Amino acid sequence: MQNQSPKIAVFSTKNWVIQAFDEVNKNHSFEPSYFEARLDKKTAPLAAGHEVVCAFVNDKVDAKTLEILKTQGIKLIALRCAGFNNVDIEKAQELDIAVVRVPAYSPYAVAEHTLGLILALNRKLHKAYHRVRDGNFALDGLMGFDLHQKTIGIIGTGKIGQVFCQLIKGFGVRILAYDKYPNEELKNLGIEYVELPKLYQQCDIISLHCPLTYETYHMINEYAIAAMKPGVMIVNTSRGPLIDSNAVIEGLKKGKVGNLALDVYEEEEALFFEDLSEKVIQDDTFVRLQTFPNVLITAHQAFFTKEAVHNIAETTFANIAEFFKTGKSANQVIPVGK
Ligand code: NAD
Repeated sequence: MQNQSPKIAVFSTKNWVIQAFDEVNKNHSFEPSYFEARLDKKTAPLAAGHEVVCAFVNDKVDAKTLEILKTQGIKLIALRCAGFNNVDIEKAQELDIAVVRVPAYSPYAVAEHTLGLILALNRKLHKAYHRVRDGNFALDGLMGFDLHQKTIGIIGTGKIGQVFCQLIKGFGVRILAYDKYPNEELKNLGIEYVELPKLYQQCDIISLHCPLTYETYHMINEYAIAAMKPGVMIVNTSRGPLIDSNAVIEGLKKGKVGNLALDVYEEEEALFFEDLSEKVIQDDTFVRLQTFPNVLITAHQAFFTKEAVHNIAETTFANIAEFFKTGKSANQVIPVGK
């Protein structure tokens, strides 16, 4: 596999993707074709004539899409994101299509956005901004709570969860964490690992930083919410389907969930990354979430910093270069148990 300048079909392209990729490509000699379309079985034929497909978080790289890509001669799926829950990894392996990803590009970007969401939602900064611009200087309805001495629950203490622990620790909080593989460095920082029932029962704020897997799908469901402290703040900057949206809506209606901050949403594929301001939103669950005064949603932008986007482009091209030089990549995704 010695092709040094494979043709790359880049899907879900936006201007910022083209800018970052073209900048980094000055150090390579790739031939990227940029497609605005999201990758799925309908758009997969656009990849004809290329050897690599570059996909993002909401591209649907399922079995059918992979079969079509195989007939187009695609050898590599280069994900320009960390999560790979949108790719049928077993099918890719069966078809001999390699999959690479960008495991880390800036845990700081996501952890800092998580902190930003908590501060904005708690102190209602998004509402205060509009009030002051409208000449309304009243404080009623803007009261928040001190983070100091609250208990924060962190589910998933990998790269992002770890940075988030370090950031929020500065507020003088107690931190309870849950991870299948506890992090010794964090234990030394005074972070206490507990099982989920204790975390749910004791935490004022619960922030999700674990990947989406069969095990974590809808982990925040009616039972988990029932076990939580009344008025809990739930924050999800990981993957939408970690939360059962209908269950959290019920929790919000009952006042059990006191605040909800989301950067991801389980049906976000139909909404996020597009300007739909002139369209009627058809997703009633999303629209219902937007009606709550104590819900703050951003559209999957936690990763979106200069540094992170540059690192994504750099690692994506480095992965492709390595794969075409050596036939493999250190960032290759291998099916579990293989
Ligand atoms: P990571 O792999 O470094 O850490 C994930 C952690 O979750 C690991 O410590 C792992 O042991 C733990 N884990 C796995 N299964 C678990 C389970 N069932 N329960 C509890 N913990 C479990 O990943 P990361 O770089 O920290 O990223 C975390 C997640 O953040 C990613 O999976 C991705 O979905 C999401 N993410 C979101 C954005 C965004 O823009 N919103 C950007 C990047 C990543």
